[in-house]
Amino acid sequence: RRSAALAGSSGEGATRDGKKIALLANIGTPEDAKNAAGKDLEGSGLFRTEFLFLERDQAPTLAEQTKTYTEVFEAFGDRRIVVRTLDAGADKPLTFADLGEEENPALGRRGLRLGMIREDLLDTQIEALAAAYQATGADVRVMAPMVGTLEETEYFAKKIRDAGLPKVGVMVEVPAAALRSEHIMSIVDFVSIGTNDLSQYTMAADRMQGELANLLDPWQPALLQLVKATCEGGRATGKPVGVCGEAGGDPLLALVLVGLGVSSLSMASGRVPAVRAALRLHDYATCQQMAAYAVAARTATAAKEAVMGIVHPNL
Ligand code: PEP
Ligand code: MG
Repeated sequence: RRSAALAGSSGEGATRDGKKIALLANIGTPEDAKNAAGKDLEGSGLFRTEFLFLERDQAPTLAEQTKTYTEVFEAFGDRRIVVRTLDAGADKPLTFADLGEEENPALGRRGLRLGMIREDLLDTQIEALAAAYQATGADVRVMAPMVGTLEETEYFAKKIRDAGLPKVGVMVEVPAAALRSEHIMSIVDFVSIGTNDLSQYTMAADRMQGELANLLDPWQPALLQLVKATCEGGRATGKPVGVCGEAGGDPLLALVLVGLGVSSLSMASGRVPAVRAALRLHDYATCQQMAAYAVAARTATAAKEAVMGIVHPNL
């Protein structure tokens, strides 16, 4: 049913009535950065930095990291780039750091928790990011993965500000962070919801288990309710809420996320044209209506059906 005209959309992300929604790419390497930067999109909403750290005998040096970050920042020119500090642990173990086995790695020392244990790694990464920012003057924003508390948020925000980096945020991937978003957002400049992990931790369902796809469905009303709670924190503090999990790359769900109050969507770069086209067909008030229906629905299937009922016929 998708028309050729939709696939060929270009320009800034916005609803039909002109509410701007930044459309951004998720990237993982300098190669990805160059590829995404060549496309019609507004920057990167998630630069995963793990590739520098995994499957190595030693941690990457300050010089190596500075060089790589500089390369990535340069690729985007004056467009925004949201860098996520190291999100190792769980399914991405650090071979050079002997941290021992864990019984439940997904609930263990991962994300910022690992950075707080191996503070040397986090500090070196932040120093490299600050140097690359100094060298390029790029629109850099730095965020931490797997944050659950205000103390963690304060710890991270202080480090980023002390390093002279201009903007700091945290990811909302743990339900606790969504529930406490107003407090968290009083400390940082923005948050970005990682729907992949937020689904996993909301539903207590391992995201690597294909059989649990139904629980991990981002249309689950419980997940949408946590997105809503996060956006309420955003409204209360006047700070922006983005989404950088896979959910943001689904055109129909993107409308719901926007209706809940999300102002940027970061996704695999190939998905941007379809999401842009979906936004252009719908007024913001329609997105809000979709969001209200989806959150009120009794099941994930019912949520999707309710939204399908009011979607533009060309989508
Ligand atoms: C997420 O959890 O939604 C996310 C964007 O981070 P990752 O997929 O890298 O864990
Ligand atoms: Mg995650």
